[in-house]
Amino acid sequence: MDRELLEKIKNGELHFHEIDEMLNTRDAIELRRAAVSETTGTEFRHIDNFSFDVDTVTKRNIENMIGAIQIPLGVAGPLRINGEYAKGDFYVPLATTEGALVASTHRGCSVITACGGANVRIFDDRMTRAPVFRAKDVTDAQKLVEWVRENLMRLKEQAEKTTRFGRLLAVEPFVAGRNVYLRFAYDTKDAMGMNMVTIATDAAVDLVLSENDVDLVALSGNMCTDKKPAAINSIMGKGKTVTADVILDREIILEKLKTTPLRMAEVNYRKNLVGSARAGSLGFNAHAANIAVAMFIACGQDAAHVVEASSAITTMETEEEGLYCSVTLPSLAAGTVGGGTHIGTQQECLAMLGVAGAGDPPGANSKKLAEIIAAAVLSGEISLIGALAGRHLAKAHAALGR
Ligand code: NAP
Repeated sequence: MDRELLEKIKNGELHFHEIDEMLNTRDAIELRRAAVSETTGTEFRHIDNFSFDVDTVTKRNIENMIGAIQIPLGVAGPLRINGEYAKGDFYVPLATTEGALVASTHRGCSVITACGGANVRIFDDRMTRAPVFRAKDVTDAQKLVEWVRENLMRLKEQAEKTTRFGRLLAVEPFVAGRNVYLRFAYDTKDAMGMNMVTIATDAAVDLVLSENDVDLVALSGNMCTDKKPAAINSIMGKGKTVTADVILDREIILEKLKTTPLRMAEVNYRKNLVGSARAGSLGFNAHAANIAVAMFIACGQDAAHVVEASSAITTMETEEEGLYCSVTLPSLAAGTVGGGTHIGTQQECLAMLGVAGAGDPPGANSKKLAEIIAAAVLSGEISLIGALAGRHLAKAHAALGR
């Protein structure tokens, strides 16, 4: 270890990132870790344990790297899925520290599988970026909106020059005073797409500015809306809009969930629907975020997109033979290339699901992943609503979660 460099980092003469140019990747990581260890008096015995390729990760995923965090990985399933892209039985990887979450999801998977599997369909697929422009006044704002409508094909051509895979689907204008928000929506194929759409939209903005008397205020004007709860995502979609459903057999509900269809439907109505409405929630579900984020972490997704995934709606209706259950995720960000998907551990989880890397045709793998996530979220909803209906929730958490 280079003591001289270490002292320079500790006394602020050198910034953390500057040593990347002086040392190889592993030595730079070690030196930063040593500096933090000595400065904070912390003995690191775990964060230096990892197996992924540091050279790739430090280029694409992390700055000032000092190590890695380990999160336990569990598996639920098999989960039978009758999707358009995901067909068959799947083992669902869940990275979490919440005791009882995997067991609960596993129980939901077993109920769904025993009832023939979850049907899943994708209704929309569009990743969004919405720059904000300042016009002189409302007259100029209207001119810009009209220009966008007349020049959609040129905007598409300009945006698509930046990517081999992204396709511009629409540009939706919104006005507030003299602020004009253009919500660009793209099919990003197997990429989750936030980097792709940001780069493509930046290119399209050049065309907007060259032919309109408006100023760009920011490439993101928050009508995208990325990583913040927003009704626009629930209504117009961001990422994949996906629905999973299943009809649960009354006998299986009695046997595996120890409750009744009627009780579950009542819990769903009074909790997920009325309770969420009374609370002013954007999420009308029990815990969609739990399963979504555990799968996001396992599969190399951007975990902050759990904000969008949490705006799911769960329905449960009694039927003569049992219970109809569904979950709709209007804004599910999912990708199998790019972001954290290439990291060794995450690649293995994607491989478990048969979706590692690019799909054939492009887009097939990210759609398959989205279908699996939706079916897994449905498993979580069924299990938790079942536990609440049968009053076993507290007991399960006491036994497994502490
Ligand atoms: P990315 O890693 O930046 O890029 C993915 C690229 O993979 C695509 O742009 C495409 O290159 C290429 N590619 C190869 N095969 C493909 C296929 N079959 N389908 C689609 N693309 C394929 O990933 P990203 O999905 O655009 O962005 C995800 C990252 O963005 C995450 O790390 C996330 O944390 C981060 N993020 C960024 C922002 C932001 O504002 N920039 C916001 C939220 C999250 P070409 O386009 O060159 O063809």
